[in-house]
Amino acid sequence: MRVFDVALIGAGPAGYAALTALRSFSGSVAVITGATPDPLKGGPAKVVSVAFERQKPACLADRLPVSGDAPPMYAAAEVGGLANYWGKQLQVYGSDDPWGQSLFLKTWKAYKAACDAVQADLEVIGGTQQKSLDSDFEASAPRLLVGTKDAPDSQLNAMALAIEKRLQEITSVEVLSGRVQQIEAEQDYLRLDLGGGTQVLARRVFLAAGVLGTAAALARSIPEVSEIGFRDHAPYTINCFRLDRILGPTYSYANNGNFNALTVTMKNGGRCDLFASVYAVSQAPISLLTTNFGLGPHFRGRRIGRIFDFVQPIRLWTPKTQVQFRHCPKASQTEATPTLDKEPDPTLRQFQDWLTAHGVRTKLGQTAPGQGFHYHRLTLGADHSGVDDVVESAFSGRLRVIDASCLQTIGCPPHTLTAMAQAYARVRHDLDRPNHH
Ligand SMILES: Cc1cc2nc3c(=O)[nH]c(=O)nc-3n(C[C@H](O)[C@H](O)[C@H](O)COP(=O)(O)OP(=O)(O)OC[C@H]3O[C@@H](n4cnc5c(N)ncnc54)[C@H](O)[C@@H]3O)c2cc1C
Repeated sequence: MRVFDVALIGAGPAGYAALTALRSFSGSVAVITGATPDPLKGGPAKVVSVAFERQKPACLADRLPVSGDAPPMYAAAEVGGLANYWGKQLQVYGSDDPWGQSLFLKTWKAYKAACDAVQADLEVIGGTQQKSLDSDFEASAPRLLVGTKDAPDSQLNAMALAIEKRLQEITSVEVLSGRVQQIEAEQDYLRLDLGGGTQVLARRVFLAAGVLGTAAALARSIPEVSEIGFRDHAPYTINCFRLDRILGPTYSYANNGNFNALTVTMKNGGRCDLFASVYAVSQAPISLLTTNFGLGPHFRGRRIGRIFDFVQPIRLWTPKTQVQFRHCPKASQTEATPTLDKEPDPTLRQFQDWLTAHGVRTKLGQTAPGQGFHYHRLTLGADHSGVDDVVESAFSGRLRVIDASCLQTIGCPPHTLTAMAQAYARVRHDLDRPNHH
């Protein structure tokens, strides 16, 4: 049976970053996309709404129930990954944010260069500072991935298109649909079992299945793993009335067709300690509203309309919005523990006080744990060993996890670009040291 030089598991943003690093690789590459002909039903409201608008099923797998009344979490199951449904925010971390300093990315300059390399063929808008507001807040146009250089307005299809293009650029690549069920170490290679008798053998494997997909694949492959841990942000949601008193009328800053209208940040030195997304309800599809209200998706192709912009939701990330998850593969539930639930959040208070001082009326809520989609920091075993150490010994150094599972900490801004920079650097590092296992 053929043994590939490299196998890449996963074709989401981290997979795209890996393919970018593999562009000049001359060895043989197998890419297993995770696509399944039989996706699970249901999913988060945004995913269900996007799928409805596209007239395609939402492609999700590996359902993970969460304790309490929180909705379940899912791994992606298609080319493009969760970026087929996401908020499109592509944020570059500042030099004082936790940008993932490691053996692979030693300086912020190297991090920035890796961000530039993975974004080079992507069309990104916004990100420029618009104005300083009072009380240390700043407003800017959201930095959004709206397309590829070839298809600048491809919007939510951008990541999948970018991946398809990369796959055409690699000299010797075989693309396989299907999901890796199990990974096993043999003497000179790893064996990837896709079920139904399909196997892929590879000397080196990059695992980019998204934190939940990676956790599920590793739990199936390393039976002695009794516990899995990972983190997410569960941001606050603040519904605001009369927000125009601070930001001016919504139509003066709303991006046509983009739900994310404005980004408000607060910096502490060079670190972002508050990241707020101001949404323009008028730009959202009605199907998102009906799904959010538990009615299922309806009214395809219709937007909510400007009249609704008198209520403006803001989603707010602070250092205290993190949630720790603990999952025992043998139990059905996943426990979610807000890391700092019992302490007041001074950053939230400062933001609320600022709104109130300007006469903005607010109603505070919080997203359910696991629906923040900022998964990171995967640990395995009751001793919470980092994923890098566990896979190093379980797979004799032949497997490298390259998605956000390997980020120990993330900041308040969305972290996907930072995870992509890490993935790029990790693959480059390993390709430069071909004999290291
Ligand atoms: C509604 C929503 C809004 C979001 N908004 C933002 C945002 O604005 N900005 C931001 O930075 N982030 C955002 N995120 C998070 C962002 O989508 C993820 O961080 C990002 O997609 C993670 O990339 P990934 O490649 O690691 O994993 P994923 O996107 O999860 O992709 C995983 C890939 O691996 C494949 N796979 C999974 N399991 C297997 C398996 N067993 N075998 C083979 N392949 C497998 C899947 O098919 C897929 O191709 C959002 C997410 C959601 C759902």
